[in-house]
Amino acid sequence: MPEEVSNARGTAAACPGTLYVVATPIGNLGDITLRALDVLRSADVIAAEDTRVTSRLLNRHGISGRLIAVHEHNERRAAETVTGLLAGGKSVALVSDAGTPGISDPGTLVVAAARAAGHSVVPLPGANAAVAALSASGFDTARFLFCGFLPARAAERRRMLAELATERVLLVFYEAPHRIVDCVADLCAAFGGTREILIARELTKLHETLHRCRLDVAGEWLQGDDHRRRGEFVLVVEGAPEAPREASVDVEGVLNILLGELPLKQAVALAVRLTGGNRNDIYALALKLKQDG
Ligand code: SAM
Repeated sequence: MPEEVSNARGTAAACPGTLYVVATPIGNLGDITLRALDVLRSADVIAAEDTRVTSRLLNRHGISGRLIAVHEHNERRAAETVTGLLAGGKSVALVSDAGTPGISDPGTLVVAAARAAGHSVVPLPGANAAVAALSASGFDTARFLFCGFLPARAAERRRMLAELATERVLLVFYEAPHRIVDCVADLCAAFGGTREILIARELTKLHETLHRCRLDVAGEWLQGDDHRRRGEFVLVVEGAPEAPREASVDVEGVLNILLGELPLKQAVALAVRLTGGNRNDIYALALKLKQDG
């Protein structure tokens, strides 16, 4: 059962010396939680990947916060700034441009630094493109591997896909529009055409599209309409099928044939070599067959 935690005003206001990791929408601005708004409203500082992007979100909700920038080029320095603020008793809300901070986005260094310094780190769950795609995929999502973005260079991407080819669990990738066609072609080459893929495009937005098909026809589908190659993409690909079991060897059948032609000891030795079975077990079986026969 969810437990309700709120202060006297019925809100979840930010506490001193605490870092909040706040998920924000991945498209539809309605996809922000009430708790996220409470924390953004009450935090002393909002550490944002791009302060302009976050300002637009805050303006929409009538929130005026003190913003500092935490992006991939300054994250180490920003992590020091944030831990300094936390040490001084300030509350800090960490956000990225879209979705959950730290998931293919800046944020992990800030969180690691805050934790290492012994500060409370509180996650505020919400939008995440990978989970949104998985939830509507119709695949068995019991186990999946989130791979984020594949390398941009074709040779590295193919090497990584070759490593992933035998993974049995669902595979989840993020991809940019200018690489989507090449990426899907490489997925098909590495994994074979019979596995299914979900192409989840522009989730929660006006042109949201979820298309599921076999890998060998996915490229054709993308080429079928220019719009299908535009926007942001999550790709969910079925894992490798179970390897076919080796046919079980009929040890008794093999022994019966050999015993009809050879003395017992020789029949047993040959049966062990042919079936790979245990010598003592095969010897015992041979004795029984001789007695019965
Ligand atoms: N932190 C984000 C999250 O929690 O999902 C991911 C940020 S990452 C920099 C951006 C990538 O996520 C995009 O290139 C795309 O692959 C995926 N993505 C983000 N929003 C999406 C959306 N609305 N529809 C499909 N994919 C999306």
